[in-house]
Amino acid sequence: MKKFIILMGPPGSGKDTQGKRLSQHMGVPLISTGEALREEISRGTEIGRRFSDLIGRGLLVPDSDMFDFVRMLFERNDVSNGFVLNGFPRTIPQAEFLDGFLLGRNRKIELVVNLAVSDSEVVKRLSGRRTCSCCGAVYNVYYSPSSKGDLCDKCGGELVQRPDDSEASVRTRLEVYAKSTFPLVEFYKGRNLLSDVDGEGSPEEVFKNILEVVNGRD
Ligand code: AMP
Repeated sequence: MKKFIILMGPPGSGKDTQGKRLSQHMGVPLISTGEALREEISRGTEIGRRFSDLIGRGLLVPDSDMFDFVRMLFERNDVSNGFVLNGFPRTIPQAEFLDGFLLGRNRKIELVVNLAVSDSEVVKRLSGRRTCSCCGAVYNVYYSPSSKGDLCDKCGGELVQRPDDSEASVRTRLEVYAKSTFPLVEFYKGRNLLSDVDGEGSPEEVFKNILEVVNGRD
């Protein structure tokens, strides 16, 4: 079983959902840079304050700041036996940083799962996404709406849209993905580490397909 795994894919491809499942299934930490940055914003930390505007607009946090941030996340979690990385790396320099970081610890990436989802599906998933402001439960107004409308089924909290899920920010995120992150597909393909997984089925189907590649060739 592969244990040092990167989960890649365009915004809205299901990385958060699948990352959580995979890390629980494997018993290794989930390092999700997007989620960790959103937490910094909600806690009003220095990093959160510095980058909330940029993140809300769908732009990337500069590489040099991400290196410090990821170093801190790796220190906070025990990653010696594996991890699922979600949202990092997002640029070639970040991938090179990760290589160097792991090399210094006698570890290396063993698998890159690339979730493939069409542009039209991505737009529907992101524009329809709503998150509970109290418990964090995630809904989609098209696919999995709350039966209570704008309130959470689980706790009654108010459902809100992530600032970077607005139409303008989604457009920016897709452009940024195509320009800065998509080149990583070739980067990891060239190292024979990349496995494409169809990300358009049900969450259960997608997870089953991910497990097949995680348990596949060593
Ligand atoms: P995500 O939840 O992965 O879509 O990330 C949300 C936002 O956090 C992104 O649109 C970026 O603004 C920022 N972010 C997350 N990970 C990175 C990264 N590796 N490099 C730069 N910015 C990031």
